[in-house]
Amino acid sequence: MNLLDGMNQCVDGENTGIWRYRDLLPQVSEQNQITMGEGNTPLVKSQKIARDLGVPELFFKLESTNPTGSYKDRIAAMGVSWALEHGKPACIGTSSGNAGASIAAYAARAGLTYHLLTIEHIVESKLTQIKAFGANIVRIKGFGESKRIGDRVFDFIQTHAAKKNWEVMITAFKYNPVAMEAVKTIAYEIYRGLGNALPDAVFVPVGGGGLFIGIWRGFTDIRTLRIETKAPQVVAVQSEGCANIVNAWIRKYDAPLNGDSTSQVSGLQVPNPPDGVEVLKVLNGGHGWGETIPDSVTWKWQERLALDEGILCEPAAAISVAGVERAVREGRLNPNSRVVCIITGAGYKDSDRLREMVASRRATDACDIDKLVI
Ligand SMILES: *Cc1c(COP(=O)(O)O)cnc(C)c1O
Repeated sequence: MNLLDGMNQCVDGENTGIWRYRDLLPQVSEQNQITMGEGNTPLVKSQKIARDLGVPELFFKLESTNPTGSYKDRIAAMGVSWALEHGKPACIGTSSGNAGASIAAYAARAGLTYHLLTIEHIVESKLTQIKAFGANIVRIKGFGESKRIGDRVFDFIQTHAAKKNWEVMITAFKYNPVAMEAVKTIAYEIYRGLGNALPDAVFVPVGGGGLFIGIWRGFTDIRTLRIETKAPQVVAVQSEGCANIVNAWIRKYDAPLNGDSTSQVSGLQVPNPPDGVEVLKVLNGGHGWGETIPDSVTWKWQERLALDEGILCEPAAAISVAGVERAVREGRLNPNSRVVCIITGAGYKDSDRLREMVASRRATDACDIDKLVI
């Protein structure tokens, strides 16, 4: 199947979600293709930030506009459809929140049970969203901080799922390569969005590394079909407090380091990144590099995206733009590059952080319309 044929199936206005690329995805019969129109997200050109950073061709891929507010909806659509196709009665997986909301929503739609093992300190607004879809939720002590406990949770899920014939819905290639194929559609859409051209660099927020690998493989598909020959650089942006992949890359290691997480950025607290070895292969192969960002800088870029561009995203998404700023400042990114930032999740996902961001801004007390002066 030619990639362009697959792409040309995209009919404007047809709400088929990731299944517009059905010929490029693992095969699922039509009646089991669960969708809520995920994907087909806007690729928006930066205005003020592009000028301020001196990177005129800076684009934002707004994955925040997906049905439950993050790109994890693409993975959930693929994985839940696959589970349905193969007669699995339930899904079980981990999440710090976004994958949980996506899988809970798509499982609800498909009529499957979903068991979620989540981190101890899950953000309240993400937990609330997952509860709305009726998932079975268990919080695990130390999960999201301790690497050892993370490893044990992944082992537990694999053993348990094998025993019960449940689908393992961990959003990493290591655990569910079928569901993760859907991430490649982000790369296909960027290619289309740039007028059938590849960008020079893509900045990807990295927790477990699955998003990074999916995007890299999507671009590789395009190049394999010789549509374009020059590969984009793929830049892994991690939180300084949870940077086991980038810190390994700096030391030229081929496996992630073993540190625990001290990051407060929800979504990126993955001290045991399942796809870390694969990310390091790409980086060590010269196809990109790593950036680490302190949480306070990530918060600042979240605020700037809202004030300067009208884009309200969660901190884990804003870190990609922080990565661009750092890469330009330190001479790693040529400012004339055509650059895409993956804006992975929506602002409402972490409402505690949002309240802190606007804490100094005030609405007036209720006033009388007849006396209003502005
Ligand atoms: C899951 C997620 C990420 C990180 O993806 P990984 O595949 O774990 O590296 C980044 N941002 C948001 C908003 C996410 O939900």
